[in-house]
Amino acid sequence: MPQITPVRNLSIHPGAKVLHYASELFEGMKAYRGIDNKIRMFRPDMNMARMKRTAKRAALPDFDAEEAIRCMADVIRLDQEWVPRSTTSSLYIRPTLIGTDPTLGVGDAHAAKFYVLTGPVGQYYATGFQPVSLLADSRYCRAFPGGVGSFKMGCNYAPTIWVGKEAVKRDCQQVLWLYGNNEEITEVGTMNIFVYWKNEQGENELITPPLSSGLILPGVTRDSLLELAKEWNEFKVTEKALTMPEIEKALKEKRLFEMFGAGTACVVSPVGKILYHNKATDVYEEWKIPTMKNNPNLMQRFYETIIDIQYGRTTFRDWMREI
Ligand code: PMP
Repeated sequence: MPQITPVRNLSIHPGAKVLHYASELFEGMKAYRGIDNKIRMFRPDMNMARMKRTAKRAALPDFDAEEAIRCMADVIRLDQEWVPRSTTSSLYIRPTLIGTDPTLGVGDAHAAKFYVLTGPVGQYYATGFQPVSLLADSRYCRAFPGGVGSFKMGCNYAPTIWVGKEAVKRDCQQVLWLYGNNEEITEVGTMNIFVYWKNEQGENELITPPLSSGLILPGVTRDSLLELAKEWNEFKVTEKALTMPEIEKALKEKRLFEMFGAGTACVVSPVGKILYHNKATDVYEEWKIPTMKNNPNLMQRFYETIIDIQYGRTTFRDWMREI
């Protein structure tokens, strides 16, 4: 039976699978207090569908998505004073699933715990958009074909922390994850990546890497931006791989307008600079990305459209679930 309790420590056997083989997965989603004071979750069905897919791949038990959403709605209703009265803050929701069998065999988990943590989070852009600098170094990779990069398992994140620290040492805030010999861009930090440019055919085009490679986490924000852009129908929208040499060429030819990350945490995050480790010369090169200078700004339009939906200023399809 699902229970709502004050937060407390878990008691699990030291042999529990989660502690040895990282049998763990999670989700990241938010509830927002709208301008009408109603509390809504943003596309929770998408998060629960992704969580179910991840549970299957992690050999952890399946669960009922609608029941999980109802449980989350119950706890948020009870704790509604924790949902900020602000249209720049929200309540972060962290559903988690761990394998708890007290046996050391590398095998599927029969015992598991599904729990949800919540906590208020403040505004990301208190002083306006802050463009980030990215470390791009193909000696590191986040995901690979046949791996689990497209699932939201904890084991995908632990190995990125050290690389993130290397980025900070070089005055970068995030890592631009590259993959393969031709250095495809895949994701940025824990966000999906978008590039808005004029392609070689002279068309304005929004590009994000495709899900088919298995290298990309299918972000809810990614999906939402693609849907909005297709609906606007003002420029070409393409899901395809984009490489560092293509980005370098576009920058030189002044065809690259904007590059930004997209994720639940901050909706969009502008990229201002890439510190590229050139594998041929072993030299770090600084590439300036003109995201903030582009006017009118597509990233900002996405941001405003999404937050208007999240805070109930506009409605769009059935994206918001009132609790
Ligand atoms: N990529 C990675 C690796 C992530 O951890 C996240 C955050 N869940 C995203 C992309 C963005 O996904 P979403 O829009 O669902 O937050």
